[in-house]
Parts: sequence; C-alpha cells; structure tokens
Amino acid sequence: MKEKYDLIVCGGGFAGTAAAIAAARSGIDVLLIDKSGFLSGTAGNCLINPFMPFYTDINGSKTDLSAGLFSEILSKLTALGGLHKNGLTFNLELLKLVLDRMARESGVTVLFHTYITGLGKEDRYIRSISTINKSGAGSFAADIFIDATGDADIAAMAGCPFQLGREGDNLCQPMTLCFDIAGVDVDKVFSTNPQINEAYRKLQSEGKIQNPREDVLYMRHMYKDILHVNSTRIIRKCPIDAEDVSAAESEAREQVFELFSFLKENCEGFENSVLLSSGPEIGIRESRMIEGLYKLNEDDLKSCTKFYDGIAASNYEIDIHNPDGSGTSHYYFAPGTYYTIPYRCLVPKGTDNLLVAGRCISGTHEAQASFRIMPVCCSTGEAAGCAAALAFANKCSVSGINTAKLRDILKKRGAFI
Ligand SMILES: Cc1cc2nc3c(=O)[nH]c(=O)nc-3n(C[C@H](O)[C@H](O)[C@H](O)COP(=O)(O)OP(=O)(O)OC[C@H]3O[C@@H](n4cnc5c(N)ncnc54)[C@H](O)[C@@H]3O)c2cc1C
Repeated sequence: MKEKYDLIVCGGGFAGTAAAIAAARSGIDVLLIDKSGFLSGTAGNCLINPFMPFYTDINGSKTDLSAGLFSEILSKLTALGGLHKNGLTFNLELLKLVLDRMARESGVTVLFHTYITGLGKEDRYIRSISTINKSGAGSFAADIFIDATGDADIAAMAGCPFQLGREGDNLCQPMTLCFDIAGVDVDKVFSTNPQINEAYRKLQSEGKIQNPREDVLYMRHMYKDILHVNSTRIIRKCPIDAEDVSAAESEAREQVFELFSFLKENCEGFENSVLLSSGPEIGIRESRMIEGLYKLNEDDLKSCTKFYDGIAASNYEIDIHNPDGSGTSHYYFAPGTYYTIPYRCLVPKGTDNLLVAGRCISGTHEAQASFRIMPVCCSTGEAAGCAAALAFANKCSVSGINTAKLRDILKKRGAFI
C-alpha cells in the first residue's frame, strides 16, 4: 500500500463507495477505508433493506431522483438477479459483490477491517489519518478527505462543528436492530396486518410487550418465505457513546426475541417460523450532522427548494421515528415534487480539504429524516467524489470549486438535479 493518496474516503457505505468510485473514475488516486469486511455500510452492517422510494412522476413519466451511480448499481444488481421486481428490495450478498466489482474496476484501493482512529491537521488542512487493523497502527496521507462514516467521525476529529440529533435536547431518532424470520407465510402476513397490530397493541397496553414502537413494521425479503422486520426501538441512547450503544445492542436483542415470540404465538402465518438472523450491528438512523456552509432545513424541503448549487434530489418523506417513545411522524411530498440538496451542505466549516457525504451532511433533525435514505446517500457521495476530483485538479479548497461545473459533470453522469 502507498503512504499517500490524492483522496482518502473514510467509510464504505453507499455514500463512501459512490464517492470513491466517482472520484477514481475522474482520474484521481483513491483509498477507501472501512471498519467492516465489505462495502454497503448500513445495508450490510445493520441488515437494512429495501431501498426507500427515490422516484416521482414528472410530466406523466416515472423519474428517478437518485440516478447516476445509483442507477448503475441497480442495473448491475438486476443483471445478477439481485433486485426484486418491486425495484426496491435487494439481495445483500449480490449488492456487496456489485460494489466490490465497481470499486475494483474503477481503480479504487479498498482497505477493509481498518478503523480510523485519529488524524493529523495543520491549520485548516487535514494531512493524514491514523488507523488500526490486524497489521497494527497505520497512517495514510492525502490531499483531500471525504468523511462518509455516517457519524461524521472525521469531521468531529478535525474539530469541525456539528449538531447531535434534534435541536434542544440532542435526542436522535431511535436505534433499530433489524432481523429476518424464516418459514413465514408472507402473503398471509400481509393480508392480516390489521389483526397483527391489534393484537400487538392489546398486549402492549397490558404491559406484556415492552417495545415502545406503536406497531409492527415488516417488509418483504428477496426470498418469498422470509419476512424482514424493522420494528425494534431503542430510545434515549446516544449513538456516539460506546457504552450506550453496547446497552442498546443487548436491549434490542431482547426486543427481537419479544417480537418474534409475539408473532409466532399470536399471528397467522408464523406457525412454522424460525428466528433466522439479526443485523451484525444495531442500526443508527441519526447521530452527528456537520455544520456546513449551508444547513438544509424543513422549510427548504417543504417548499421544494431548488438550490443554485443543487447536487442531489429527493422527495422521500420526512420520516421521524419518535426519539422519545411511541409514534412515527410522516410528511409526504406531493407527486411530481422534490427538493435539491446544495453542495454547501457537504462542506464542513473549519477545514479546507474535507467533504462530508451521506446521512451526516449539514441539515436539521427534520431535513435529515428525509435525506438519510440509501439512494440519496449514494447521490451525495457521488457528488462529493466528483467535487474532490475537481478540487484536486484545480488545486483549490473544496469550497473554492466551480459548482456550476460540478453540476455539469453530475448531469453528464446521469444525475437528476
Ligand atoms: C434501522 C434503520 C432502517 C433504515 N431503513 C432504511 C430503508 O428501509 N431504506 C433506505 O433506503 N434507508 C434506510 N435507512 C437509512 C440508511 O440505511 C442510512 O441512512 C444510509 O445507509 C447511510 O449511508 P451512509 O453511507 O451515509 O453511512 P453508512 O451506511 O452508515 O456507512 C458508513 C460506513 O463507515 C464505516 N465507518 C464508520 N466509522 C468508521 C471509522 N471510524 N473507521 C472506519 N470505518 C468507519 C462503517 O463501517 C460504514 O460502512 C435505515 C437506517 C436505519 C438505521
């Protein structure tokens, strides 16, 4: 491995993988680092599936708002039989394979099982990051860095300002440990949803179910006899506090067992079911969001603002799982409407050679509740990768790039902006 790269991308979720591929395809030398042993981030780390909807009807035709690299991933998945006919549910193992191949074929150097633990900084420039893995402690230098850790770990290490969770009390959306149940009559389960939730709420009101979530949320799996369950709810724990996350993991495992037992004992379609697997890690919806040159807010979303430096588009609902207990609030966008995300949300205050992509870009609690989905994280990642390549070519700070040029590049690559 080399000691210095043009760009280091920290984190290989949808945002980081897209950033690394986009930058490498622009001709710069890219190192992508992840603490896990595969790309896909939350999808593989936390068993998150399906992609939330990323399209709308514009002038009578279905239009993908997350296009560009995300469309390429979908078509490669489809070619391998890895995408459900609903266009959203995917085969995780094939997704990992597709992302590996795309990164390799684009010339990205990938380093797995490597935790980023610190960084070296001079004035407003990050010079290097420190790592730990089975080879021991390491250090890699680069001209530009992209923080795609989901938690804005690198921005925080660099001393950039950030917001944790919602304004006022810093509570974050609940953590959820997702799990799969095998041997389920899935069609029966979908046709008896009201009865399932009635039985669930009755037992909850009698104190026999401890999970604070208001209903049972489940989805189809690629395989017809498996049900994917996204319904545990761990509240009031801090996702960047290791002790809290440890406690959350074991509390969530109790909830997995409670939910599985409830379904098996009370609901039609689960007679022959078995608890198959839960995610390797509990899923974290929200933690740090950087303070960027612009902070996207709820009004921007609801007014469907189109920014002059828009680099990604979305119409995913403002989907807030109550950080404090029961209840989930939804704000849905009207058909044909969407908002864009300005490039400035990817540029943290306090440094000149760091970009941020994915769920930890600059936004309020409410705005993040919409842009946090995988397709949109992929789009902000692609934009960050292209922007890093532009800054590298022009030898300028990440805030100094020509955003009109960035938008042209993204449009040529298929982005809808
Ligand atoms: C419970 C739950 C349900 C969800 N449901 C859906 C859904 O149905 N559909 C949908 O589209 N979206 C869903 N989301 C949202 C979506 O999955 C995430 O917001 C999105 O995947 C985040 O992508 P990302 O690339 O920003 O970060 P991540 O996917 O979190 O990627 C970050 C990567 O960085 C690595 N990393 C972090 N810190 C370090 C470090 N210090 N050193 C090295 N590596 C590091 C991690 O291993 C990880 O691979 C859900 C999220 C949760 C938690």
